[in-house]
This record gives sequence, C-alpha cells and structure tokens, in this order.
Amino acid sequence: MGSPGNPWRIAAAQGIADWDNANTKFNLIEHPWGGTIKLINTSALVRGVTFWWCGAGGASGFEVSYNLYHDSGDQYTNNMRRAIASHEIGHAHFIGHIPNDQGWEGLMLKYASLTYYDSHFSPTNTDITLVNQIYP
Ligand SMILES: [Zn+2]
Repeated sequence: MGSPGNPWRIAAAQGIADWDNANTKFNLIEHPWGGTIKLINTSALVRGVTFWWCGAGGASGFEVSYNLYHDSGDQYTNNMRRAIASHEIGHAHFIGHIPNDQGWEGLMLKYASLTYYDSHFSPTNTDITLVNQIYP
C-alpha cells in the first residue's frame, strides 16, 4: 500500500499498532486472504471505506481503502490520516459506528470533524469497549 514512507502507509501502520496495543482480545494478523488495505482516489467516496465479507464460520475478511481524493484539498495532517486510518481499521475489527448523539467520544464516531481527528487519533475507552462487547 504505497511505497515505504508514504504518509498513508505510515498512518495505517500506526493505526494497526494502536489497535493491537489497545486492551482487546482482537489482533490483526497478516494472512494471504484475510484482509487488504489499499489507496484509492475518487470523488465518489468519503475519506475511507471498509468492506467485510463472511464465510461459513462468520466474518472472514475485509478490505480497507483510504481515499487520496480528499487528502490535499482538506489539507490533512499526519494526525488526521492516523485517525482516518484507525477508524477504518476499527471497521476491520468488524465493528460499526458510535452514535454522535450519546455524548461519547471515540475514533468510531459516525461523524467526526477533521479538527476532532487532529487531536483524537487513537482508540479511546469507548472504542475499546465496543470491540470488547463483541469479543468478550
Ligand atoms: Zn466508519
């Protein structure tokens, strides 16, 4: 996913490390068909998108895409890329969004401003609780 030194590759590596260091029982492992992280460039999609698929035993794979289209126009900082990367990696844990109307904070908020992401770029207790509710 991008050459070494690509800011999105760095952001994805940080996001994976942040989630792996979070207090959950879910760990992402490298596997030939388990998951893909890639870069896209399209005006038709939001900042990032994650697709899941299921096998006979349940969730079996994911594809995370980071959309370069918004990067320069929105003047992303490295913290914003890290937050967007981590948000999508949260989806790669097969979790959805935190509703915005409950007063909670977290990477997995349904709607987050770039300003919010600039100062909130790693999983919060709310994000970790969400994962732990699914994988106790
Ligand atoms: Zn999302």
